[in-house]
Amino acid sequence: MLKRRSLIKALAATGFGGSALATLSGCQVTMDGVKASGASAAKGPARVIVVGGGFGGSSVAKYLKRFDSSINVTLIEPQKTYMTCPGSNWYLAGLVDANYITQNYDALKTKHGVNVVHATVTAVNAAGKKVTLSDGRVLDYDKLVVSPGIDFKYEAIQGYSADVIDQIPHAYKAGPQTELLYKQIRAMPQGGTFVICPPGNPFRCPPGPYERVSMVADYFKKNNPTAKIIVLDAKDKFSKQGLFVEGWQQLYGDMIKWIPASEGGKINRIDAKTKTVYTDFGDYKADVLNIIPPQKAGKLAFDAGLVNDKGWCPVNQQTFESKIHPNVYVIGDSCVAGKMPKSGHSAASQGKMCAASIVSALQGKNAPTAKNVNTCYSLVGSDYGISVAAVYELKEGAIEGVKDAGGVSPKGADAAFRKMEANYAYGWYKSIAMDLWNS
Ligand SMILES: Cc1cc2nc3c(=O)[nH]c(=O)nc-3n(C[C@H](O)[C@H](O)[C@H](O)COP(=O)(O)OP(=O)(O)OC[C@H]3O[C@@H](n4cnc5c(N)ncnc54)[C@H](O)[C@@H]3O)c2cc1C
Repeated sequence: MLKRRSLIKALAATGFGGSALATLSGCQVTMDGVKASGASAAKGPARVIVVGGGFGGSSVAKYLKRFDSSINVTLIEPQKTYMTCPGSNWYLAGLVDANYITQNYDALKTKHGVNVVHATVTAVNAAGKKVTLSDGRVLDYDKLVVSPGIDFKYEAIQGYSADVIDQIPHAYKAGPQTELLYKQIRAMPQGGTFVICPPGNPFRCPPGPYERVSMVADYFKKNNPTAKIIVLDAKDKFSKQGLFVEGWQQLYGDMIKWIPASEGGKINRIDAKTKTVYTDFGDYKADVLNIIPPQKAGKLAFDAGLVNDKGWCPVNQQTFESKIHPNVYVIGDSCVAGKMPKSGHSAASQGKMCAASIVSALQGKNAPTAKNVNTCYSLVGSDYGISVAAVYELKEGAIEGVKDAGGVSPKGADAAFRKMEANYAYGWYKSIAMDLWNS
């Protein structure tokens, strides 16, 4: 592994210069044998199509252009604006407004020269290297990157389905569902009960449901102080549990009751009309019910035949090329990325690695070796932040955490420390949004 200074020298020698150095914020790449620019091995400019303008797709599109501006990069994303899930819990609490967490694709177009097409990919012909769009167009590619996020296994919870999400939101894809939950929380009767049901592993953003609990509690403490929050969990433990529980007790007293799977948290079914949740240990009637269903790779990954029998996409964990279809790469929540959690930070880091791998492949060079990174801040209160960070490397083909690199916030820290981490959380959001969409 190269040390930072030698890495910088190596990057300079390859001609990547400042562009590649920018990747250091999200992942570290040793660019053995990769040229900075120039024509790809293919005749004419290489064509790379990226599907999905979330954290993974926006990252890979931008960094493909920065690593080799001659590549013709097309990003296909149906929405003109993208409300991020990171920060959406803060929005529920009223700490930030919707604009704060809404991004667009202007900088990718105008500053980086990415062709942005607002459409949905309806089919992938991996053998013929073509994608079909919802507007009927068929586009050819040399390399395809797929970052479609997640979909839900609604059928895993009896009584829950896509038909009832307008009454019982999951709010686990940000947008109208987030707006709905925001309104429901505010319309809840004084002293009412908010019930949230987090899924089993693996799922998008392991601390996400618990940050949501915290942010809903923050809102209730200020506006509905006798409200109750019941967490019916499909698991017996969760990410940053000790830190969350410490913060909940400190900030919200007995407002929050967390019930693990083994003590009756696992739900059997729900009655959508009465917002009642049934478990082996009893029934819970909610005023506001937030079900977060178990998850699988985004629909396109299934349509394109990229998934394994568990519903996620197996990839070469060095390059992110699909193990099923050559020349198709899968990044972000849909892929199996070893020990990396499904997070926006992970997806952005994978996007940079994947971009470097594609540039190498197009130039007939060896795939780069990499370090991936994840950092995940959560707000427990408006001035109370906690975090987990990790660095990852490839070991025998699988992404593993680097021992003693990263860690979690200390337990028992004072208010000034928690406030500092809350400030870092806002700073993290600003800098990743700046990296992917605003610079
Ligand atoms: C409440 C909550 C809080 C979170 N907080 C954090 C956090 O603090 N930090 C963090 O790092 N992560 C956080 N996450 C996780 C983060 O949102 C995801 O891990 C991240 O969005 C994954 O990126 P992605 O590119 O895989 O998918 P997404 O960001 O979901 O992007 C997928 C995109 O693909 C598009 N798409 C799908 N199908 C097609 C198709 N057929 N054609 C064209 N486009 C298509 C979609 O429109 C979408 O824009 C949070 C998640 C939640 C739910």
